[in-house]
Amino acid sequence: MTKDQELGITVDKEKNVSEWFTQAVTKAELAEYAPMKGFMIIEPYGMKIWENIKENFNEMIEDEVDNASFPSLIPESLLEKEKDIVEGFDPEVAWVTEAGKDGELEEKLAVRPTSESMIAPYMSKKIRSYRDLPFRVNQWCNIVRWEATDTRPFLRTREFLWQEGHTAHRNNEKAHKEVMKRLNQYEKLYEEFLAIPVLKGKKPEHDKFPGAEVTMTVEALMPSGRSIQSGTSHNLGQQFAKAFDIEYEDENQENNYCYTCSWGLSTRSIGPLALAHGDSQGLVLPPRIAPIQAVIVPIFQEESKEEVLDYCRELEDELKGIRTEIDREDHRSPGYKFNKWELKGVPLRIEIGPNEAEDREVTLVRRDNRDKKIVKLEEAGQKVEGTLEEIHEDLYQNLLDYRDKHIHEAVSYEEILEKIEEEKGYVKAPWCGREECEAEVKDEIHAEIVMVPLEDEELEGENCAICGNKAIKNAYFAKTY
Ligand SMILES: [Zn+2]
Repeated sequence: MTKDQELGITVDKEKNVSEWFTQAVTKAELAEYAPMKGFMIIEPYGMKIWENIKENFNEMIEDEVDNASFPSLIPESLLEKEKDIVEGFDPEVAWVTEAGKDGELEEKLAVRPTSESMIAPYMSKKIRSYRDLPFRVNQWCNIVRWEATDTRPFLRTREFLWQEGHTAHRNNEKAHKEVMKRLNQYEKLYEEFLAIPVLKGKKPEHDKFPGAEVTMTVEALMPSGRSIQSGTSHNLGQQFAKAFDIEYEDENQENNYCYTCSWGLSTRSIGPLALAHGDSQGLVLPPRIAPIQAVIVPIFQEESKEEVLDYCRELEDELKGIRTEIDREDHRSPGYKFNKWELKGVPLRIEIGPNEAEDREVTLVRRDNRDKKIVKLEEAGQKVEGTLEEIHEDLYQNLLDYRDKHIHEAVSYEEILEKIEEEKGYVKAPWCGREECEAEVKDEIHAEIVMVPLEDEELEGENCAICGNKAIKNAYFAKTY
């Protein structure tokens, strides 16, 4: 903690979630505001979470996808080759127009808002024949998008970190398979590591990624009742292949355009991690992603100090393989330390005093529900591991229960508005597929269609809840972050 930071959060999460979020991420030292508006500094504690996400996701994709690094600047002429990318990102692109001694550049350079326009020409160079397909590459990098609306650490920032995977395939079927595979990996990452259940779906036509044929999304419902887009996977069809000449020669020596995909997950994912699990005391980090899984807090008087600290080290040995830390800050009271680690969301606290040392026991306190139990030193490793698993399961289950209770159905415009406003969460309603119908809801209550579920059949004989014309699919309406 820096000296001018008050330790605790001063608002109730329930009462003012927006202020709570800002205090939680800054006081827990995940991020700090940067000198420029809309930018953030990701602090070491926040970066460790991102690195854990990165490590787990790399493990999921590494058998098929290698990491590479592409320039952060993209020449205007390349960005302009695919018209939808230009139109889609134009209002958010930051440009470099001057550099070095010579001053003004002959061609201005875009700070990448996404890298299709840089990676597509690379693919065009590398792909020759059908034997080069599928072609896959991923990069972990920073992205700049000049957001006009109010920015907030992690949730909406002008610069963020992400991974962007780019792939090329022989046909649309294989491209679709790729898109679904990566979407399923995002689902797995959220559910198995971040303990956040997600819904998988398709974005409406008018809300697709610029240049994409299809955009798939994973959506997570936050306890505030708002949905957050948590990762997207795009089938780009042949748009980019045609704009950048990504061709391959097939078995009959004929040239064909490839089908390309891109898929991304960003540091925005740390926003829902805080929002979904946190409480008024601070963060509650799911154990598999927490930088520190168990914090050991020694409690001693001067005369018992040595004995207690020795015992803590013994315990640390028992906890090999679990990410632990001993809080050695001598000048702080146990109460202060408890508050600090609660704020930082460490899933499990282990209290060690002279009594524990003497009885060869340890006291475990869960961050999420504050359950306390005393276990023997020799079984501490196993018990801590088991408790961390339980915490993960409980965090996940709580959100799943909440989400399942917050998928409402509506058949009229009034009902959509009423249920979103009063009952929060998602409202599932038959929809004709037209943007105008979504716009009516958006204008009235700032809710939008976050996705069309994948598993649902096409509707027959039902009418759009908004315009009354023939409905095609059910759409999920919600307020969003
Ligand atoms: Zn309609």
